[in-house]
Amino acid sequence: MSHFLGSSGNLNTSEEGKQLISNCPICKSTYKKVDINTLDQNDEAELFHAKCNNCKDKLMAMITLTSLGMSVIGIMTDLTLEDTKRLIGSDPVSEDHLLNFHSFLKNEQKNFFNYLKIK
Ligand SMILES: [Zn+2]
Repeated sequence: MSHFLGSSGNLNTSEEGKQLISNCPICKSTYKKVDINTLDQNDEAELFHAKCNNCKDKLMAMITLTSLGMSVIGIMTDLTLEDTKRLIGSDPVSEDHLLNFHSFLKNEQKNFFNYLKIK
């Protein structure tokens, strides 16, 4: 699980990204920092899991950096942090893996909300 730690190359992305998903989309509560966890990341994308302490809803969100800027997509999920870690951790970390996940999120149009796009 070393890829969850010590990758400081895009720390700014990470911190900005976490601010973007600082509130629960369901009840608007502010997420606690400990409830937002990075699942996977590379230079262009970062995947988070967040759990609302208030309504207990869980969110997976992916931040991507493109030439157009930063965008965040999120999907409500039943998966716990441990579940998602198992899911993500089952394959070697690679850009393809994140891209696949991004495609997955994009294909789930009816379930997900594109709640922030920042130029
Ligand atoms: Zn909530």
